[in-house]
Amino acid sequence: MAFQLPPLPYATDAFGEILSAETFHFHHGKHHNAYVLKANELIATNPELQGKSLFELIRLTAKSRPDELFNQLGQIWNHSFYWLGLSPQKKQPTGKLLGLINESFGSLDNLVEKLKGEAVGHFASGWAALNLIDGKLDVTSYHDADTPAAHDARPLLILDVWEHAYYIDYRNVRASYAEAILRHAINWDFVAQNLDGLGLTRADQPG
Ligand code: FE
Repeated sequence: MAFQLPPLPYATDAFGEILSAETFHFHHGKHHNAYVLKANELIATNPELQGKSLFELIRLTAKSRPDELFNQLGQIWNHSFYWLGLSPQKKQPTGKLLGLINESFGSLDNLVEKLKGEAVGHFASGWAALNLIDGKLDVTSYHDADTPAAHDARPLLILDVWEHAYYIDYRNVRASYAEAILRHAINWDFVAQNLDGLGLTRADQPG
């Protein structure tokens, strides 16, 4: 079995001006797909790497970074998790998640500002992330293809801040992209689901 490009859980034109169908065409159809194709090509040349899950291979190759295969695998996991964290219908955090947000940041608005600051402040390519640490919410970022899956993280949400994520719709203005996504297009139900600590499994796939 080879790794697959996971289908998007919504139509490519579902986000209107927030994220265009053209962005999905390139970002999911070209960039994410290229990581899948390259990973499969590299794995095909090494029988020892075959039959392992995406998560298992990320943990294995993380030890030998910088590693070309790790970069592809990290990006497969990160993009798969990123798509799941987006929603074309505006949602709001409720219940236990809202309680944790208020406890850790004071308000949803503060959390959004902190995530936006992390996204904008991250130098060059990477990912802004919301993790669960010891029952509390934590904002951090990962550089290039680094991924929560390479760490003992409990990821709730990640935001792609590579230029390819926003250049078509926002040109060079990463802050506008982060603001629009974080305010209008986060799947807070998915974030809440990941409070079970199983977020890492939700973007995994068998080898
Ligand atoms: Fe990306």
